[in-house]
Formats: sequence, C-alpha cells, structure tokens
Amino acid sequence: MSERSFDDAFAPSLGTLGDEDALRDFLQSTCDIHGVSIAIDQAVAQAIASDSWQPFVAATPAAHLWLEQSICSLSRPIVYDGVTVGILRVGHLVATPQGLPERVIDHVQLVLNVLLYHGHRCAVSAALQEASMREHVREVTMQNEELRTAYEHVRKLDRLKIDFLGTVSHELRTPLTSILGYGEMLTQGVAGPLGAEQLEFVNTIREKGEQLLQLINSMLDTAKLESGTLDVHRSPLLLPPLLEGVAGTFVPHARRRDIRLELDVGSDVLEIFADAMRLRQVFMNLVDNALKFSPKGSTVRLEARLIVSYLGDHAGGLASEALSSTVAYDAVEVRIRDRGCGIPPEEHSRIFDPFYQVDSSQTRRHQGAGLGLAICKRLVEAHDGRILVEANLPQGTCFVVTLPIAAPDRERRVRLRGSLRP
Ligand code: ADP
Repeated sequence: MSERSFDDAFAPSLGTLGDEDALRDFLQSTCDIHGVSIAIDQAVAQAIASDSWQPFVAATPAAHLWLEQSICSLSRPIVYDGVTVGILRVGHLVATPQGLPERVIDHVQLVLNVLLYHGHRCAVSAALQEASMREHVREVTMQNEELRTAYEHVRKLDRLKIDFLGTVSHELRTPLTSILGYGEMLTQGVAGPLGAEQLEFVNTIREKGEQLLQLINSMLDTAKLESGTLDVHRSPLLLPPLLEGVAGTFVPHARRRDIRLELDVGSDVLEIFADAMRLRQVFMNLVDNALKFSPKGSTVRLEARLIVSYLGDHAGGLASEALSSTVAYDAVEVRIRDRGCGIPPEEHSRIFDPFYQVDSSQTRRHQGAGLGLAICKRLVEAHDGRILVEANLPQGTCFVVTLPIAAPDRERRVRLRGSLRP
C-alpha cells in the first residue's frame, strides 16, 4: 500500500469520478441527441494554455463529427468545491441551433457535479478508512514489538531461574551426599558402637537427608528438563521386569503401612524403546504417590497391558483425550491405581505443573514439593508417550501411562512370552 497524503486524498479531481464507462455512455448519448461532440480534459493548465487536448473522456455523435473537426467549440472550466478540476469542451457545427452548446454544457456540468460529489465522498471515506487502518497497523506493530521485548525478558529471567535452580541443587547435593555417607558409617559402627538412642537419631538424620536429596534431585531434573539438557538414552527395554523391580522396591514400605501392592502385567511381552533409569524414575514416583495417599489396609495395583493398533480412542476410552494421534500404533498402557483420597477432576491437568500441589488436608500431611508429576510428564513425553490421571471409582486415583511399543519384531515378543509373567 503506497502512502498518499491526506491532501492528495481529499483534493477533488476528475480521477474520483468513478465509473468512466458510465460517464462515456452518458456523454455519448448526449452527443447523439444533440449532434455535438463533447470532451473533458483534466490537464487544466495545459488545455487552457496550448489548446492541445488530451481528453480524459471524449465522445462524438454517431455522425462522426469529431471534436477536432468541429467548426466551433465552446469551453468551460469544471469547478467543483471552488477548485477547477478540468475543462469541458463542446464542439458543434455552425448550423447547430443557437444556445444549444451552452445548454449541453450546463447539463453535462450538472451531471458532473453530482458524479464528482459522490466520487469525492467515496474517495474521502476510503482515505479515512485507509488512514485508520494504517494507524491500527502501526499500533499493532508497536504492541507486537512490546510483547516481543517482554517475552524476551521473561525468557531471560526463566533461563536465569533454571540456571540458578541447577547450580544451587548441584551445590547442595555434594555436601549432602557427604553427610549421608558419614551417617551411614556411623550406623555401621565405623566410629565406634552407638547406643540405641544415638542410632535412632542418626537414622532420623539419614532419613531426612534422603528426603532432602530426593528433593534436590527433583529440582536438578526439573532444571535440566526445562533447559533441555536432560539426557534420555533409549534402547529396547522389557517393561515387565522394570515394573517388577519398582514394585519390589516398595514392598517393605507397603507392608509397613499395611497396604497390599499388586502387580499384573498381562500375558503379552511388553517391549518398548526407553531409558530404563528414567522410566523407573517415573513409575517409582507414581507408586510412591499411590502409597502416600492410600489408607491403611487398601490396595495399590500396578497393571500393564498391550493395546494393538492404538488410536487414542479404543474401547473403554482409556486415556483417549490425551492421545490425539490419527495413526494407529501398538502401545503399552500402564495403570497405577490406588484407593486413596483421589484427585478432583478440575485438578487433573494442573497437577502436572511444576510445584503444583492439590490444596487438601491429605496433601498437606505428606511432604513433597509438587515436582514429581511434572518430571514424570516430561519424561513420559520424551518417550513419545502420554500420561493422564483419571478417577478410580468408586474411590481413589488411577494414573495412566501410555508408551509406544518398540517398533520392530512381534516375533521376539512371542518368543519371550510367558517368562515375563509376575
Ligand atoms: P509431590 O512431590 O508433592 O507429591 P507430585 O507432583 O508428585 O508432587 O504430586 C502433585 C500433587 O498431586 C500432590 O501434592 C497431590 O496433591 C496430588 N497427587 C499425586 N498423586 C496422587 C494420588 N495418587 N492420590 C491423590 N493425590 C495425588
């Protein structure tokens, strides 16, 4: 869009007459009726000075009475809104009745005035619209620029925050590892035998130290995940032994809390393409949460099964809203169910935000920084999988992790089948 000044846009001119063809038709019919020729020139100064016409619109009667050949001619300036915008010339023969050329000029002038008025009005309103659009574009461009600057600023702060989180976590971990190491040596009696009370104190120090270490590790993982520096090394991995290992780790803890821990990995051999350590971290976290929020005497269940040609909308609708794939693929679905307090539906998406915790008495009773699920989600997504939470009716929570099956060889799955059952 080329810029035009307001003065240019608002100046009346024959250029704003609009429909030239209609004007030509009008002039032509006037010529034919009155036997005169008519021309309009907008090069006002030229036309007056040199009498050389470059008609903007010209018309002659059907009788071929060309303007140039007209024996007499009558010119009159076309004045609109006090401005001379062109010259109107009528050519006629000597035999033309007296007064007719003047009347034709008057008539054409009248029509031109109406056309000029409408044309000018349209031009002015178009110019105003154009000006307001330009202003709007200018404002939007400015706002965009401000937003871009603010976004850059926030990104910079975010990077600083992540760097800070990473550095602090790292610096805390080193002395803490040392504290835990010395605690362990004390409990082993390396520095001499401990009395029962001393042992209890040292064990408490170790237990709290482990919790702190877990928190620091989570912070470090979060920092790495946010900055994209967390490495995930994927290789073919059989899921059942991994899940058995996770369940096994928690058996003593579950027993202490009088909770039954069940494992059901179905009859298919479930091979995926994953980072064993990172995936273990995901399931450890989910089972730990399930136990944390389960009442005494209840059951926590870990299930895994193969879903052939998963489309995100298979029978039962499990996990359907999380997977929006239109390409079917084989997947493993792992479900961690508990009979605890459950998570209200309105919190289902937010619990995966870093540092987010459901504000309930249950949550307040348990320690945690609200980082576990955020890390789980990012780790599962790094494996091209999805995680979501659903109600485990009539009571409790069910986390669903869906991971694509390792692409190749069903044969190997078949060969190993049976040996992997719990
Ligand atoms: P935290 O380390 O605080 O447990 P998470 O990210 O693992 O953090 O969990 C976030 C929040 O989600 C928890 O504080 C709790 O409110 C809720 N939550 C997670 N798992 C469960 C569960 N199995 N049952 C009920 N609430 C849960």
